[in-house]
Amino acid sequence: MPVPGNLIGKLNLKMPMEIKAENKSGNMRRVGFLILAGLVFAAVAWFWFKGQTVPIQKRTRFLMDTVCTIYIPGPKTVLPVIDKALDRAEEIDKKFNCLNPDSPIYAFNHNNKPIRDPEIVEVAQKALAVARQSDGALDITVYPLVRLWGFFGKQGPRLPSEREIKECLKHVGYKYVAVQNGEVRKLRPDIQIDLGAVAKGYAVDEAAKILKQAKIRSALVDFGGDIYAIGEIRNRPWTVGIRNPRGEGEVGGFEISDLSTATSGDYERFFEKDGVRYHHILDPKTGYPSRGLISATVISADATLADAWSTATFVLGKEKSLALAEKTEGLQGVVLITPDGKISSSSQLARNFEKNSKGK
Ligand code: ADP
Ligand code: MG
Repeated sequence: MPVPGNLIGKLNLKMPMEIKAENKSGNMRRVGFLILAGLVFAAVAWFWFKGQTVPIQKRTRFLMDTVCTIYIPGPKTVLPVIDKALDRAEEIDKKFNCLNPDSPIYAFNHNNKPIRDPEIVEVAQKALAVARQSDGALDITVYPLVRLWGFFGKQGPRLPSEREIKECLKHVGYKYVAVQNGEVRKLRPDIQIDLGAVAKGYAVDEAAKILKQAKIRSALVDFGGDIYAIGEIRNRPWTVGIRNPRGEGEVGGFEISDLSTATSGDYERFFEKDGVRYHHILDPKTGYPSRGLISATVISADATLADAWSTATFVLGKEKSLALAEKTEGLQGVVLITPDGKISSSSQLARNFEKNSKGK
């Protein structure tokens, strides 16, 4: 999960030029003095302005099973806007939660009711497009598998038997869901969906939209590592760090402005059995947690797509994800970490991504 680093930007002050007023006639000296005084005043004003620490307002709520924070540099008067954006995220959390009996997704899964809610239809459509582009690495029909592994439920996670997984896989396949006439429809009655891999990104997009409508020019929306950066902070893009998946701190970071980033990692939700780590991102082809990467970060202009692609690239692994990042619209860069701790980035990010010397 990326963590916002350097929230107030790096100061890059240059010393003012040295001014020499020697060997001048009286008038020239006076003019020289005035120029000097003017320059000193300008420099002091400039330093004062640059040296101001912009207060950063923030609010946090626990939504979508994660910590959601919005940061805005500015006075306290921006707080009601943050609250409004978080209210919207809360509304999305409820609507997209497949455990909520009032959710259209619940009615779809348990009563075969087509989904007409326009925003769920829109998000499902985006997720199905990424499912096709990633050859099913992202698959919204993994819900029966997610339930079998028990990552979200009162009983807690467990290692299912091979037979159970094989049986479950019979009910998984994004091709058995379609958006037709503005509705999400099942093409087979046993199919159930889970938009958990994309809903958080959608909430980020919607929160950012509310901030922009309120004319906020600089802000960071961070919902559990799904991030949208609006504008700049103290005339620099926002810096985002990528969390070290196996230790403290960050392995590196990059700068973004008016862009989104999301990370999927095997360290978010997992259990260990007989020394093996089992985590919550499942490979829809095998039914087991995907193994090729331990962290996948992506960049996109659209936070819903960033969320979808972070899950898809995590499952696809290094080679396929690097290749897709070079040619896929909506996937503007990736930083991937393999189990040996090696970090690879696509060409778009190679220029921007800076490894932390203290990281791995
Ligand atoms: P996080 O929620 O930790 O940021 P992701 O965005 O990668 O992680 O979403 C993971 C969630 O999506 C899982 O908790 C599960 O509900 C669901 N999921 C797991 N594997 C897949 C997959 N291959 N395709 C689509 N959804 C998945
Ligand atoms: Mg995701």
